[in-house]
Amino acid sequence: MSLKNLITVPDDLLRKKSQNIEKITINEKKLIRDLFDTMYHHNGIGLAAVQIGILKRIIVLDVSKKDEGKKPMCFINPVIQSRSNKISTYEEGCLSIPNTFIEIQRPEKCTVEYINDEGKKNIIECEGLLSTCIQHEINHLDGKLIIDFLSKLKKDLIIKKLSKQKSADRVVV
Ligand code: ZN
Repeated sequence: MSLKNLITVPDDLLRKKSQNIEKITINEKKLIRDLFDTMYHHNGIGLAAVQIGILKRIIVLDVSKKDEGKKPMCFINPVIQSRSNKISTYEEGCLSIPNTFIEIQRPEKCTVEYINDEGKKNIIECEGLLSTCIQHEINHLDGKLIIDFLSKLKKDLIIKKLSKQKSADRVVV
């Protein structure tokens, strides 16, 4: 079990573009385990490597329902190949933006090409919660956050609020 610290807004790292993985080595395998451990620990349903400070294009998800068993999914170098015209709306939260929920519209379905944790190329058709979640995480790989869906005014308010919360934790002795 290896828990990593979550990076939160306004950390600049969250705005950086993550790099493609060329080869899956023991380091990537460990990173994937760390991502799952950290995501499950925080009761998240998705996590991108950048959220624990690693700028690599790896995301993990588990959108299974509470009464089902765990369904861990890992996507390396994911690319959205197609999106449906039909839109769905979810209220989204983000482990990197504490206590903030934003109603966001995204394509209801999408097709994603990716590499699995054994290095094999794959394609998956996503819909519903999986579609929303995978789009949210792929946004992270490109430095995009859910607050970017808001007006500048609302976005600045949230960033200001979260910045203040951070300084409140600071202790000088
Ligand atoms: Zn997020």
